[in-house]
Parts: sequence; C-alpha cells; structure tokens
Amino acid sequence: MKILIIGACGQIGTELTMRLRELYGNESVIAGDIREGSDELMNSGPFEILDAMDRDSIEDVCLHYEISEVYLMAAMLSATAEKYPKKAWNLNMDSLFHVLNLAREGKIEKIFWPSSIAVFGPTTPKENTPQQTIMEPSTVYGISKQTGERWCEYYHNKYGVDVRSIRYPGLISWKTLPGGGTTDYAVEIFHEALKNNHYDCFLSETTNLPMMFMEDAIKATVSIMQTKPENVKQRSSYNLAGMSFTPQEIATEIQTHLKDFTINYKPDFRQAIADSWPGSIDDSEARKDWSWNNDYDLKKMVIEMIDNLK
Ligand code: NAD
Repeated sequence: MKILIIGACGQIGTELTMRLRELYGNESVIAGDIREGSDELMNSGPFEILDAMDRDSIEDVCLHYEISEVYLMAAMLSATAEKYPKKAWNLNMDSLFHVLNLAREGKIEKIFWPSSIAVFGPTTPKENTPQQTIMEPSTVYGISKQTGERWCEYYHNKYGVDVRSIRYPGLISWKTLPGGGTTDYAVEIFHEALKNNHYDCFLSETTNLPMMFMEDAIKATVSIMQTKPENVKQRSSYNLAGMSFTPQEIATEIQTHLKDFTINYKPDFRQAIADSWPGSIDDSEARKDWSWNNDYDLKKMVIEMIDNLK
C-alpha cells in the first residue's frame, strides 16, 4: 500500500505523516504540500511539492508512486477563510473534486477527507449535537465542509468511491502550530503561558467548544481508514468528540501547573464564528460503527502540552 498526504506540512498532516510512516514504512508514505515542512518530516521519507488545486500534478504523483490511498489535508481554515472567501471556496472544493474524480476513474482506491464541527450552525442543537441534525453553517469554511460532505456521500453512493471522513473538533497539539482556525487559542494559550505567563484570549471566557488532543485525532483517522468498508456507515462524515471546555476552564487547569498564569479576554471577529458552533458533540455512531474511543480529557491534555512545550 502506498499513501499520499496532500497538505502534509500542516498541523494535522505533520503528525499524521509521521504516524503513517511508523505504521507502513517511510518509503510507503509520500508527503505533499505547497511548502516544505519540519526537518523530521522532510528527512524521514519522500516529499513532493504539490498544489492541491492542480489535478494533473496530483495524478502524476499518484501514478508515479502507484498511490492507493490519498489523505487530503490541504484546506483554508475557518478564520482565514472569512478573510478570503473565494480563495477558500476554490481551494476547499477543487482539491476535493480532484481527489474524488481520481478515485472515480479507478486511479486511487481510498480517500480520507476531513470535515469539521464547522458544518453546524446557529440553528443546530448546541449540546450533544447529534450525527444527523439541522446543519445551516454560517461561515465560508463551514459551507465548504458541508458541501464537501454531500459530495463525498454522493460519490460513494453513485460511483462506489471509498471515501471516509471525520468532523474534527478543534485540535490541540504541541509539535506543529495551528493554521488559522477559530480554536487556535487553545494551542496559543500554552505557548504564551510558558513564555509570558499571560494570554490575551480572542474568545470570551464562557465560549464552550468541542476540542481534541492530536493523539486522539490521529488515532481516529488511522482507525477509520483501517476499518472494513462495511463498518463505515456514514459516508458524509462522522461526529467525533474528545472534550469540551471554555477559555476560563482551560486557564484554570493551566493555573494548577503554572500558578502565576493570568488571562484576559478580548473577543475579536472569531467570537461570531465560535458562537455559531456547538458546545459538545454526540459521537455515539463512530463509537458503535468502528469502535472509536478517546484517551485524553482536559486534565491529561494540559499535562501533556505543558510537559512537552517546556
Ligand atoms: P493547516 O492549515 O495547519 O495545514 C494545511 C496544510 O495544507 C498546510 O501545510 C498548507 O501549506 C497546505 N496547503 C495549503 N494550500 C495548499 C495547496 N494548494 N496545495 C497543497 N497544500 C496546500 O491545517 P490543519 O489544521 O492541518 O487541517 C487539515 C485539515 O483538517 C483541513 O481540511 C481542516 O479543515 C481540517 N480540520 C482541522 C481542524 C483543526 O483544529 N486543526 C479542525 C477541523 C478540521
């Protein structure tokens, strides 16, 4: 099996590439991105400069390496997408169609494409948001993810494409910085706490959002890709949950380790995005269909972040 990861140098792609190289061998996992990544990623296996908007280049790389699985991680994230709506739409949609069409034409066998909790909107039930529910996203990013989900399901039903997807919550990691999302505060807070003992948070103290430690997100991604096709019953995307917390709750938890840490709240344009998203997610379908379970809660995540960033 040969794997191509497009957008391999980003927050998720970096750790996903390293995990897949551990599992399947360095030479079997080709990292692709429009920019170079960390030394660890660049030196541990094949790398190609690759534009997710360029169908011909993706096809060339797939044929050259005899790729069977593509993980499409390139996208413009929620906060940046509000600044460049057309660019975000083009990148998020075109790249998905390129990969779906390669699978439809039989040139690759399996696709992983991440969706997001941004598919939900202000009219969605806020707590314990079910797998199937009202979805009226109010951000460019959310609209692109919801549309992407519809197309994934369509390509599966109509053309038999084996595409698998997860609605990631906000992801927290210490190896790579986040790339322009609304939940980035939950990573920045650790860097600032350790450097300056203080953080100015761009969300209000009571904004409750679904979050997940990167280890859990990578575990879920590997797990949904490894499970038998018949276990994947949702071909749009699966709800996935780890923990939910507010800026105030994470700050209090950090203070149990760093006593002098202080926080101020200065909500900016990202507050409106956060307000449109759920506070907690019901992921019982993923737990039932492919045995998903999370390992990290707020306490355990904060310890890991502080230990590793120190
Ligand atoms: P990121 O911004 O950190 O990384 C994206 C990577 O894609 C970057 O390395 C970037 O250089 C690359 N890229 C951008 N345009 C490209 C192009 N035209 N061709 C090739 N590569 C290109 O993003 P991430 O946080 O790693 O997110 C990966 C995926 O997961 C995205 O689809 C995102 O929407 C989704 N997601 C992320 C989160 C999160 O909290 N990080 C939450 C929900 C969903």
